[in-house]
Amino acid sequence: MGDYLIREHHPKVEMLPSGALQAAVLAMQVRNQAYALDKGRTRTYRLDVYGCQMNERDAETCAGLLEEMGFTRVTDREPADIIVFVTCCVRENAEDRIYGHIGMLAQECQENGSAILAGGCMMQQAHVVEKIRKSYPQVKVVFGTHNIHRVPELLHSWETSRKRVFEIWDEPGDAPGLLPATRTDPFRAWVVIAAGCDNYCTYCIVPHVRGRERSRPMEDVLLEIRGLAGQGFKEITLLGQNVNSYGNDLGKTDLFAALLHQIEEIDGIERVRFMTSHPKDLSDSLVSAMKECRKVCSHLHLPVQSGSSGILQRMNRKYTREQYLDLVDRIRVEMPDISLSTDLIVGFPGESEDDFEDTCDLVRRVGYDFAFMFLYSPRKGTPAAAYSDQVPADVASARFQRLLKMQTELATGKAKHLEGQVLEVLAEGHSKEDAALYAGRTSGNRLVNFTASVDPIGKIVRVRIIRAGAFWLQGEMMTGRNTTEEPWPNQN
Ligand code: SF4
Repeated sequence: MGDYLIREHHPKVEMLPSGALQAAVLAMQVRNQAYALDKGRTRTYRLDVYGCQMNERDAETCAGLLEEMGFTRVTDREPADIIVFVTCCVRENAEDRIYGHIGMLAQECQENGSAILAGGCMMQQAHVVEKIRKSYPQVKVVFGTHNIHRVPELLHSWETSRKRVFEIWDEPGDAPGLLPATRTDPFRAWVVIAAGCDNYCTYCIVPHVRGRERSRPMEDVLLEIRGLAGQGFKEITLLGQNVNSYGNDLGKTDLFAALLHQIEEIDGIERVRFMTSHPKDLSDSLVSAMKECRKVCSHLHLPVQSGSSGILQRMNRKYTREQYLDLVDRIRVEMPDISLSTDLIVGFPGESEDDFEDTCDLVRRVGYDFAFMFLYSPRKGTPAAAYSDQVPADVASARFQRLLKMQTELATGKAKHLEGQVLEVLAEGHSKEDAALYAGRTSGNRLVNFTASVDPIGKIVRVRIIRAGAFWLQGEMMTGRNTTEEPWPNQN
């Protein structure tokens, strides 16, 4: 017998027995209590999370499950009995960093007897699992994106058998349900409304590792949000690879707009955000819902990826540059002050200088408040990785620098208009730059560091903007009125 177990669960033929999760959690609780009695300390865990908000949310579930089992979280710098990696495979450099970080932990694992659990998107790829199995013996449990709820059983299996466990589901089971979660923020919470993606953009690995789109039933989503409101959360961010197509797989149309209207009725929730919106699925009824629902923040993340229709077609984005610009116009007619952000890929295969100029032109025309720019990174298994006309790295890098400089100047100019305005800010805590300041976000999703004479944490307060840059605002809190009682204009 080898020193590891490979389990191939197939959810369509073998569903998890309903009590299995609870039984595994209970068994781990007993082990951890015995350990604490024997050693005089509780066992600990820490998290190392990469990638998008979906991964951050998955990490909260891992944390919730581990705490149910009796583990206590420690900081990034402290030794831990269990180290959980939630991995990302969207870009090659993220994968390289993850291998590097796992490699660096070999000594810590040997000295402290720590075990690494590796999960997330990267682990859905067979070649990655094989590399982990052969080269990283400190990784004791490998799980994927579809079976996070199995972590207690897999960990229990490792601890009782001392055989490494590799369990990847190649197909998803049910859409995510209500698992325990330890939320990272006391006032803002992520709520997954759909998992997976049906779009198959030619550069993207996500549909290959997270599967086809599966929407959670609206009642489940609302139940979770009502629970969050009861726990004092003020802001929720609805998550999906494409929230605009929420419900399509359930045979419903415009369900996302209906969801926003339903959330509007939930007492206690004061702000609603969502991401990500695919431009091809952003309907007029959704634009109306955003305008009508007062709790929906004045911010839309609308990834364009390229300003060239030719490149968009090769990306399989299913809209043209003209259709995107028309959509932006329609949104701005309804919501003139809305803050817009986007994602841009520079150096996609076949991108000519003219294509790149089209992107620069589109960025200038839209006038984004923020833009997340990425150098194209070929991902094994995606169509674009096999395209023969890859852009040389030095050309792509020079274009990236030009676009970055241009967007930073444009965003700085836009932000300057906010100086002197009074904006609503949800105060999240103390500023990371200066502990004497408080930090929070505007409805338009801008970070604000500000002074305050009374503790504003957890409240939506009015802040006068004194200085504005591309990535932050600086201000002072106004006193005398609770801003949640009435709307304020120009919530940028
Ligand atoms: S919409 Fe495209 S880029 Fe976004 S997750 Fe789906 S395939 Fe990837």
